[in-house]
Amino acid sequence: MATKLQNLLDYSQEELETLATSLGQPRFRAAQLRGWLYRGADFEEMTNLPETFRKELKENYAAGRLSIRRRLESALDGTVKYLLGLGDGNFVESVLMKYKYGYSACVSTQVGCKMGCSFCASAQAGFVRSLTAGEILGQIITMNTDLQIRIGHVVMMGIGEPLDNYENVVRFIRMARDTNGLGISCRNLSLSTCGLAEQIIRLSEEGLPITLSVSLHSPFNTQRSEMMPVNRKYPLDKLLDACNIYTLNTGRRITYEYALIEGINDSEAHAARLVSLLKGKLCHVNLIPVNRVEGTGYEKASKKNILSFQKILAAGGINVTLRRTLGRDIEAACGQLRRAEDENRRQ
Ligand code: SF4
Repeated sequence: MATKLQNLLDYSQEELETLATSLGQPRFRAAQLRGWLYRGADFEEMTNLPETFRKELKENYAAGRLSIRRRLESALDGTVKYLLGLGDGNFVESVLMKYKYGYSACVSTQVGCKMGCSFCASAQAGFVRSLTAGEILGQIITMNTDLQIRIGHVVMMGIGEPLDNYENVVRFIRMARDTNGLGISCRNLSLSTCGLAEQIIRLSEEGLPITLSVSLHSPFNTQRSEMMPVNRKYPLDKLLDACNIYTLNTGRRITYEYALIEGINDSEAHAARLVSLLKGKLCHVNLIPVNRVEGTGYEKASKKNILSFQKILAAGGINVTLRRTLGRDIEAACGQLRRAEDENRRQ
């Protein structure tokens, strides 16, 4: 059922202290409460808090853990995909991946997306609203609690354009890296953007040197504008200038994501043009054999084209990797579960 309770995961430590004292509790109760919230506890489980305090909290606030609407687990590689319910009845997707170095979560930052990329299931389902910082945090806490794990890496690459939800996303990053919170270092926090150049520059000035991934997908402005309408506002030269500023201000290497689509952007001419755009920059190109998305007409590039594309980039001196596709058997492409749920609701 939809609720209008305030989400305590949106509160900073100082705000929790103000709340605790306003409810007649000593300041130290805030740290106890926060400890429980970050462990995904319900109010009933917060046994070291006075019962009256817990009762007042329960009546007016939510502890922030999200409800698990669906959970799909890959039999191939253990990737787990979640459809998570928010307090107002909306839902988002999050994905948990297991790597040699530990658990990594891919989280959503908006319900839907305004950016309209032609290859994306999230764009097809439309935009509803941005998530609060606590709702982004809640995805990680929900997965940690559900599987009794500790997520050590987070990528903001789920549903939504993170930089279109700038204030909440930056607040989330500060909360996630807080050593009294999740304690995830900037190096292990990654944000993926379709290329909002102004916000990239703004982010570079926040003192938060997180890993920045930029979805490129075509080295030609005309084609990129067709695939990604954001390119009309921020064409390639503006975008790459902003990325240079990000690297200068943070010292971090940019990752350019390039989804290879059969017959669309997987030619040798595309690869050669990409080399000329990126040569000499502190960057890395991540080639992604694109997931097939119903309704877009896009198909995954052939193995031959993928390998030849990779070879041209490497020969041009570009640092390039091919992304391992996780969760192939559970349709882990972002937005697909939410779209299916929307369609179910409408029927
Ligand atoms: S690819 Fe990302 S930015 Fe583009 S529409 Fe999908 S969610 Fe939005």
